[in-house]
Amino acid sequence: MRAPHRWRRPAVTVAATLTALTLGTGIASAGQDGWGRPTPGSDGGGDSYYPQDGNGGYDVSDYDLKVTYAPDSHQLTGLQTVYARATQSLSSFNLDLKGLTVDSVKVNGLPAKFSRTGDHELVITPRFPLLRGLPFRAEIAYHGIPQAIEDPNLGANGWQYAKSGGAFVAGEPKSATTWYPVNDTPLDKARFHLAITVPDEWGVISNGREKGTYKTAAGTTHVWSEDTPAVPYMTTVAIDKWTFDKRQRADGTPIVSAFAPGTPDSTKQADARLPEILDFLESKFGKYPVDAAGGIYLAEPIGFSLETLSRPIYSGRAGNVSTIVHENAHQWYGDTVAVDHWKDVCLNECFASYATWLWSQAKDGQDLDARYLKTVAAASDQFWAGKLYDMGPGNEFTYVYSKGPVMLHALSKYLGQAAFDQVLKTWNGLHHNGNASMQEFQHYCEAVGHKDLQGFFDAWIYGNGKPAPEYLYPGDLKPANG
Ligand SMILES: [Zn+2]
Repeated sequence: MRAPHRWRRPAVTVAATLTALTLGTGIASAGQDGWGRPTPGSDGGGDSYYPQDGNGGYDVSDYDLKVTYAPDSHQLTGLQTVYARATQSLSSFNLDLKGLTVDSVKVNGLPAKFSRTGDHELVITPRFPLLRGLPFRAEIAYHGIPQAIEDPNLGANGWQYAKSGGAFVAGEPKSATTWYPVNDTPLDKARFHLAITVPDEWGVISNGREKGTYKTAAGTTHVWSEDTPAVPYMTTVAIDKWTFDKRQRADGTPIVSAFAPGTPDSTKQADARLPEILDFLESKFGKYPVDAAGGIYLAEPIGFSLETLSRPIYSGRAGNVSTIVHENAHQWYGDTVAVDHWKDVCLNECFASYATWLWSQAKDGQDLDARYLKTVAAASDQFWAGKLYDMGPGNEFTYVYSKGPVMLHALSKYLGQAAFDQVLKTWNGLHHNGNASMQEFQHYCEAVGHKDLQGFFDAWIYGNGKPAPEYLYPGDLKPANG
């Protein structure tokens, strides 16, 4: 995510048979009572900032979402099929869905009871319990007019309406829950398959690869498939009268970019550099970790751009090279390695912000040591006031953009350039399609660099205030006036 002006604002704060599964998986060793007594799955994912987001007791592998959307009336009609596996024996389980009306639910093909509780909980009680280790399939039919979640910092999150009459989805820390039933936590990544039907005159862009279109009574159905497991808030769809640009990376990875009517030429020129940008980021961060690429360029001047998987979505005022570098760096740092918890968000934003430093160094000949020293010399008490870890809900998207890249440049000196480069290039492979915490990052740096980094991390990340000179001027960095 990137919102260039936001830091100035104050922070506000079954399918398979039992026999087959017993033979085919490790659950046979669970023993006679190994499934345990079925109990309700947790109604929250356990994040320390957003405990009610996501749910417990199962792990989703695939979302197969069929949606019909009418731009005139804003009516959305959906059929969501969730393919999951129970991680505990479940008498009931929850999905997240904000607003919208649920019409029916089936589990493993049988009608299931359901109720709505809290802000966004859909509680599903299957006819038979779901035993630990077994796969299950839930189908949810629903409809309504999607509404965004209003965030005091970022504005609208989730499903939003464009002035053109179209619509688009963008939001963090959550947005998927505004338009489909979902386990809305970064801890549960899944493949995302979308078939969306809109009137013929509208175009569609989403995550992953295009799988074609076909005509139906309600218009044209557009099929997209993201086979790189996605955190729910990294999924998107955008409906408008797009102009498309379709290319390939040198290795054949498809690139599809979509430009809303009125997109300035400068934005198209910036997007034209996407293959070069991905090649550059690959040289720093390792192999491009996603199965497709591109960009979604809105006309709407929304408050942020977002690293939606394979295809970031850009505010109408942010179609520039620097933002494209930032959002695509997130494909390594934030998307295919996601946060363990929101308090780890520096693992996303500090790195995406530092990627623009590295780009400036490589492409514009910028002296990063000089940039660092100038920034430190000019830093006010306010610059040092925030932590880069566990900064508190509502404060995630502040210091990570300003202090974050400065910290990483200091780390490159403190750890040594070769070890730092090795960490940057291998971190994604280490946690690919998984999650990671700041402590894991610290320990990995310590292992690669053969160095105790507790003092550095305490000074720069876990704590606030200006770091002591040994951490502020490591290696060959010297105070600008010294
Ligand atoms: Zn970002």
